[in-house]
Amino acid sequence: MRENPKEAETTAHRLMLKAGLVRMLGAGIYSYLPLGWKVLQNIATIVREEMNRIGGVEFFLPVLSPSDIWEESGRWDSFGDELFRLKDRKGRSLCLSPTHEEIITHLARQNIKSYKELPQIWYQIQTKFRDEPRPRSAVVRARQFIMKDSYTMDTDEDGLNRSYNLHFEAYTKIFTRCGLDFFSVEASGGVMGTGKSEEFMVPCASGEDRVVRCTSCNYRANLVISDSKPVEFKSEDLNLKEVSTPGKKTVEEVSSFLKVPSHRLMKSLLYTNNNKPIFILIRGDYEAAEEKIKRHFGEAIRQATEEEILNTCKADAGFIGPVGLENIEIYADTAFCKKHGFITGANKNNYHLTGVTPERDFKVKEYIDLKLSHRGDRCIHCNGELEFINAIEVGHIFQLGKKYSISMGATFGTKDGARLPIVMGSYGIGLERIMASAIETFADSDGICWPLSIAPFKVIVVPLDSKELLEAALNIYKKLLQEGIEVLLDDRDQTPGVKFKDADLIGIPFRITVGERYREKNKVELYDRREKKTVYLSLEDMQRRIGEICSRE
Ligand code: ATP
Ligand code: MG
Repeated sequence: MRENPKEAETTAHRLMLKAGLVRMLGAGIYSYLPLGWKVLQNIATIVREEMNRIGGVEFFLPVLSPSDIWEESGRWDSFGDELFRLKDRKGRSLCLSPTHEEIITHLARQNIKSYKELPQIWYQIQTKFRDEPRPRSAVVRARQFIMKDSYTMDTDEDGLNRSYNLHFEAYTKIFTRCGLDFFSVEASGGVMGTGKSEEFMVPCASGEDRVVRCTSCNYRANLVISDSKPVEFKSEDLNLKEVSTPGKKTVEEVSSFLKVPSHRLMKSLLYTNNNKPIFILIRGDYEAAEEKIKRHFGEAIRQATEEEILNTCKADAGFIGPVGLENIEIYADTAFCKKHGFITGANKNNYHLTGVTPERDFKVKEYIDLKLSHRGDRCIHCNGELEFINAIEVGHIFQLGKKYSISMGATFGTKDGARLPIVMGSYGIGLERIMASAIETFADSDGICWPLSIAPFKVIVVPLDSKELLEAALNIYKKLLQEGIEVLLDDRDQTPGVKFKDADLIGIPFRITVGERYREKNKVELYDRREKKTVYLSLEDMQRRIGEICSRE
């Protein structure tokens, strides 16, 4: 494209459209054009090589999946609206697999008989379907995307740790070979469960994930579960007192009305956990971390409705608080531990209480870290400064444990003839996200700058104008092809300006220009796209140089 596509939200999105890697068919649905598909295939090759190296064996599992195995695991319900569901002509329920734990566990229970057959690493590179609520940034959050997913099966936790570590190493090699700048973070399992889990992140301004990284030690975590030390404050206001706060409901409204900083407020949040109301208290300058709440209380927990709040507290949200409530468990964020003098709702519309002190004015069942970290917090390990950065999640490794093997009955026979559930792990890499994050990281004002390893072509040969030069270029192109180098020839009838611009836009790492100098001195121009440096070389030297560069990779 000559113009920038208007719909593009991020650099990767804009350049993928502009350079002709993809075209959109519908929301979150993309066609890969030849250049984009070549990049994905190169990524797949690297992924395959590294998965094979750790002993993985490749499968190809169906996308279409009958609902019964999802009902057995409980995810027919828990996956919710993200699951694409359909019915066949006989009325049987099916889904388009968003991930393949159920299919793998089913295969394992049919085929694994004895401890002698374990461990196993099974993987595939396959299309996944997820009805994402907000498909965006082109292929970074698509509704149909390509994932390398692998699953490990072991007899015990030690085995699982070994398999998990093998994946950590393989992922490190894969992202390094793809030329990415990345790091791993502690992660939450989401719908997968609550086992040990890490994500691989590529820092990038348009990334949808927020990660917390300590500037002094090695602590790195996804914001949704990150731990941190809040700044501590002291309050002198110890008198429990009711004050009128007409119409003031939010933290901002109450703190500006009472002329106190927001950290003096106690946000009172009513939740429902399996039909039981529970109270969660978060300091006014923080948000509740929903992921931590889910992790601690289980998937069934949800915020109470307005009606439930009114029934339980006899006041509207914004005026509720923990003082005077009976038979409700109260959980306070750790920021409240041994602290006093807060402001919270009075369970009476248009009134708040000041000087509220935990343990004196109400009993706390447990102090738990339930807040979302924010700027100013310190590292819990070394008290260092924390930085908050945006990133794209390119991979996720996860210890499933026995969740699926127990619910679906996948067992192995032990030495003593007993049967035990297989201990499993699950590991994913988004191929398109590798492509998008490479674009985001290295693009410049001229276009994409591919890392050599995943570039659709390593070299582009550009002849200028005349027939004679085209002939010479064709020979160079053929020579490089013979050497097994992926090379593209720009034989279009276009001006040099257009050819150079397009070569830059599609990001081919090296450009060989066959122009005037070739006619005069038999030399070609070798241009390094990323370094923006040009050298003039004889044909033999050029060929040697290209050969060296490509074999290094
Ligand atoms: P997110 O939190 O971004 O939705 P996820 O936790 O749902 O990701 P996993 O289920 O762990 O992702 O999937 C494994 C990998 O698949 C991710 O690390 C990511 O690289 C890729 N992936 C997940 N969802 C998408 C999507 N909608 N489009 C493209 N790639 C995706
Ligand atoms: Mg997701």
